[in-house]
Amino acid sequence: MIRTIGVTLAGMLFATPALAQLHDTGGGEITVIPTDHNEAEIDAAFSEGMKRAQALKLRQAVTPLVSSTGNLLFPLRLRPDSKSFRGNGISNFVDHGAGTALEDFTCGTRTYDGHRGIDMALYPYGWRMMDGAEVEIAAAAPGTIVNKGDGQFDRQCHTTGAAANFVIVRQNDGLDALYWHMKKGSVTKAAIGQKVAAGDVLGLVASSGNSTGPHLHFELRTSGGQTVDPFAGRCSTKTTKWKHQPENIDTDILKIATHSAPPPGVSSSCDNPDPRYADQFKPGAKVWGAVYLRDQRPDTPVVISFVRPNGQIFASWTTGAISRVYSFSYWWASIALPASGANGTWKIRAKLEGREMEHAFIVGKAPAATTLTASVLPSVQSVSAGATAIFNVAVRNIGSQAAAGCTLVPDVPLAAVWNVEQIVPAAPAGELNRAFDLAAGKSKKFRLSIKPKKGYRASAIKIPIHVSCLNANSPALGSKTEVTLTF
Ligand SMILES: [Zn+2]
Repeated sequence: MIRTIGVTLAGMLFATPALAQLHDTGGGEITVIPTDHNEAEIDAAFSEGMKRAQALKLRQAVTPLVSSTGNLLFPLRLRPDSKSFRGNGISNFVDHGAGTALEDFTCGTRTYDGHRGIDMALYPYGWRMMDGAEVEIAAAAPGTIVNKGDGQFDRQCHTTGAAANFVIVRQNDGLDALYWHMKKGSVTKAAIGQKVAAGDVLGLVASSGNSTGPHLHFELRTSGGQTVDPFAGRCSTKTTKWKHQPENIDTDILKIATHSAPPPGVSSSCDNPDPRYADQFKPGAKVWGAVYLRDQRPDTPVVISFVRPNGQIFASWTTGAISRVYSFSYWWASIALPASGANGTWKIRAKLEGREMEHAFIVGKAPAATTLTASVLPSVQSVSAGATAIFNVAVRNIGSQAAAGCTLVPDVPLAAVWNVEQIVPAAPAGELNRAFDLAAGKSKKFRLSIKPKKGYRASAIKIPIHVSCLNANSPALGSKTEVTLTF
């Protein structure tokens, strides 16, 4: 019907017929975010670690060491079975304010009074992500384990002063790094006194200790007990301690999902609603498509489109303006699928700041599970300021079933514009970051481009490549699926 009138009135009707297919829309800011509280528990864990470090004759740093390049890798990574693009947002930075004043490293107020660490919160539906063991904690820098604890209850949703599961590493630079609130039973089996390399898995994110929801509290102290904020900024030190400092407002799409019901909001920190994720639907069914964001800026509306198997837009919605940065937000729209001719792989496409990302869903029969491998070349690369780093990624389906709705993302905060383009077989020009299918036994090649933003540097950061499909997990992280980049 639309096609017949669209021939003559295409320009005028471009938006209207698409909107007419939309059933309902919703979403907004998520204000319930995990927090914690500095308390005697953390001080006691640090003092115990300092005693052990002294007994082990490890290097001490009584004042923060200032180096020209930082030595910290980002401490969170997606695990292979996560279907997210990113695992977390930052809910609280270190507080530099005197007295009760709030002051994060940028002189903003994204902190709470007396907070001495950085809270990295799982989003969306953090309890689900925790239960699915979707995000692992990796050592930010090499060192020696000087304290750890496990066996504590890990579903705290109020700050009650409970004990946490944790690891403290005396880094080779002499600073102590605390990884707090871990999942019960997940803490590394490496003993106190044992060395860890940067990137070694220390445990999983959860909500043990004084915590209101699943997050990592990452904190650095000197052996004199002084707080060290790894973020450089106007209200912090001049030199970052990160190998690549994440942006203070790090706008990104964390996840795109389809649901069989309206995506539930969250009204208290103990709330753990069933998101009712669904990737397979029957013709005529209602489909809710949702986009989950961190650090959405006031000038960044999201365009959510439902795309038919033939590539045509079925329905589209542009979210309204917001008045300030939302640390965590979500937006959703729903459609009723056509009762006939709907079978195939559909997509939800989300456009943010001019970039598009996709999530696929199936109308008709669900695909059976398959297995992928991936390899990235070159494994080490260095580009000068203003240049673009290019990596070639090959993805192969080594299983006996077709892989459906696959996406490829670099899993690390990047102060850079990155894009993934399919090059073998070539995708139409300008089609970036598309969800793709991959037949059994076949491979596809992609070009991952990373263009650093002005003023940002990176010294040998590790970038894990996460490739996941509706019916396949990302290949295990290893030398072939992680690259090292300097800019
Ligand atoms: Zn914290």
